[in-house]
Amino acid sequence: MKTAPSNRPRPSDPALLPDSVPLLDVQRGNQPLSEEIIMAIRGVCDSGRFLYGPDVQQLEQSVAAICQTEHAIGCASGSDALLLALMALDIKPGDEVITPSFTFFATASCIWRLGARIVFADIEAETFNVDPERIEAAITPATKAILVVHLFGQCAQMDAIQAIARRHGVAVIEDGAQAIGAEFEGRAAGSMGDIGCFSFYPTKNLGGFGDGGMLTTNQEWLAKKLRQLAAHGMHTRYYHQMVGINSRLDSIQAAVLNVKVAQLGTWCQQRRANAARYLELFAHAGLDDWLQLPCEVPGRHHVWNQFTIRVPHGLRDGLREQLADQRIGTEIYYPLGLHQQECFRPLGYGPGSLPETERAAGEVLSLPIFPELTDAELQRVVQGTAEAVHLTRRAA
Ligand SMILES: *Cc1c(COP(=O)(O)O)cnc(C)c1O
Repeated sequence: MKTAPSNRPRPSDPALLPDSVPLLDVQRGNQPLSEEIIMAIRGVCDSGRFLYGPDVQQLEQSVAAICQTEHAIGCASGSDALLLALMALDIKPGDEVITPSFTFFATASCIWRLGARIVFADIEAETFNVDPERIEAAITPATKAILVVHLFGQCAQMDAIQAIARRHGVAVIEDGAQAIGAEFEGRAAGSMGDIGCFSFYPTKNLGGFGDGGMLTTNQEWLAKKLRQLAAHGMHTRYYHQMVGINSRLDSIQAAVLNVKVAQLGTWCQQRRANAARYLELFAHAGLDDWLQLPCEVPGRHHVWNQFTIRVPHGLRDGLREQLADQRIGTEIYYPLGLHQQECFRPLGYGPGSLPETERAAGEVLSLPIFPELTDAELQRVVQGTAEAVHLTRRAA
């Protein structure tokens, strides 16, 4: 028997629609480029140049242009970029490196791996970025570098941080993994410190089909040393001046990224438009007295890798569950400060030692912000959040 065509009326409340809004859907960005990407991959396969090929050079040139730097050096991941940056600056046991605790693990693990001391600095409440005053307070005669993170796609206060670094004669490394294309007063992320570090992990604003990373610098000696360190420390084949690591960007990843990098400007604009639309919709929903919304500080060009709200203490996890029930994807970046991680317990940071970091870890919730979100989806996220806030408040 034939079933009658369904002509049930669609529910008018968008929150009741069966479609979900994922936190991130990489396929929507990749799909329209898939023919071009497959051709590019085939080109690498046909050439047989799987490492150090022209695709890698081309991507290095593109990233150097985006980051306004003289040099860009491909490597295997953002984590390796951070490790190589510290190795190039000769960070060793007995040295101290100041860095935020409210960041991804790789920012600090590279310091630990070299036997240096991780010195955590607390963050600013509004931007989640490292607080220059806390950096200054943490400087000692053993400080060798400040490892800044441009968290969620917005640059840290680089003018103040660079002034501190100059005053104390220490190096600055930028972890720009979440911030390719971001700017601080017209200067690009990755161009302000001695070395910039970038990641092409698939969830970043420029994501590959696997792991990949890039280093940027304006200093020729650093560019040479970074390239050498990423190739086992070899200067001429099989002659090693220093002990490096094996960290290369695959030609296949570079070929994929060369197709995608042409879209990066458009994607950043779409992320910025989505953020602006959220701020408008949240203000309209009257939730901005209850939720704290993220902001773009004047003079910074925010590229919105994440759109991260704060939920009043103790209510975040409940709100997140409500959103999951409505099939709205969220994530907690990050549920713990790194100083609270088990593996860094030997550093001796007790509860309350970084109060703003600990408060943020209990309150943050990241909402979908990827470029291809439709306006209906943005509206659905805000309406869904309003509904969830209502239920969470009633339960509280
Ligand atoms: C993703 C990320 C990294 C590490 O990059 P990988 O390419 O995954 O190794 C480092 N720092 C921050 C802030 C990141 O978000």
